[in-house]
Amino acid sequence: MNIRKTHFYFCFLAILGISFCKEVFNSDVNSLNSQNIDVVSSLPQWLDKKDELDFLQGKYKPNAYLKPYNNPGGDQRQHYLLPEALSQYKKMIDAFDKYRLENHPNYKQNIFIVSSFRDFFLQKNIWEGKYSGDRKMRESVTGKTPEEIIALILEFSSAPGTSRHHWGTDMDLNSLQNSYFEKGGKGEIIYNWMQENAHKYGFCQPYNKLSERSGLGYNEEKWHWSYKPASSNLMKRWEKAYKSGEIQPSGYLGADVLGKKALTYVTSVNKDCK
Ligand SMILES: [Zn+2]
Repeated sequence: MNIRKTHFYFCFLAILGISFCKEVFNSDVNSLNSQNIDVVSSLPQWLDKKDELDFLQGKYKPNAYLKPYNNPGGDQRQHYLLPEALSQYKKMIDAFDKYRLENHPNYKQNIFIVSSFRDFFLQKNIWEGKYSGDRKMRESVTGKTPEEIIALILEFSSAPGTSRHHWGTDMDLNSLQNSYFEKGGKGEIIYNWMQENAHKYGFCQPYNKLSERSGLGYNEEKWHWSYKPASSNLMKRWEKAYKSGEIQPSGYLGADVLGKKALTYVTSVNKDCK
């Protein structure tokens, strides 16, 4: 084969390769565009590494990165989310409203936020309230070892610095009871619709059935939803920072006992959220 011919075949294969890659790349971009989700723009712009670590652990003022939101209907409480998570959330609840009016005209429940961003210090209050026995849990803390108390808290609550609620991506909807969303519950129609449709807006349920997460992490929470295009990335950053020692549990009761459990609880989520 002469040089000219070799050159021709090389160019031909290169062009084929580029077209193929472009095709794959475009189909990815198109599927994202169809959901109006821009993966790159969904993360905050941190000025330096410390800002990123503070963000991952909820040590920041929400106004710095997040947008405030009030549930419709005069609810005074302000909730904070990343701008993109909020705009996708609004699209999702509008779509549910449309579905509800068309298919269940007598059903009056809408989707609303009970809790979204919580900072390190609010999470510390919740955690230490439970640790000390001031906040009620399934069982009393009296007579229990620190390990037993922590296991009990971790059924539903995160340690400060380890909560997905620190990221502006996660929210609790409507009710903190699974039964609300189950058969015969007030939120059954909402939950069934969310299961079918939430992913179209970028949302996933991180704490699905424990059996689908090898029995690891928090109990199932049918009310907790996460904006995956941002949170999957934030979870990976958290994991990396924890493994490198840049994030270490500290600054609250029981932090030394929590140890490596922190990593298990942060990373044991629904595979749809990873
Ligand atoms: Zn939650």
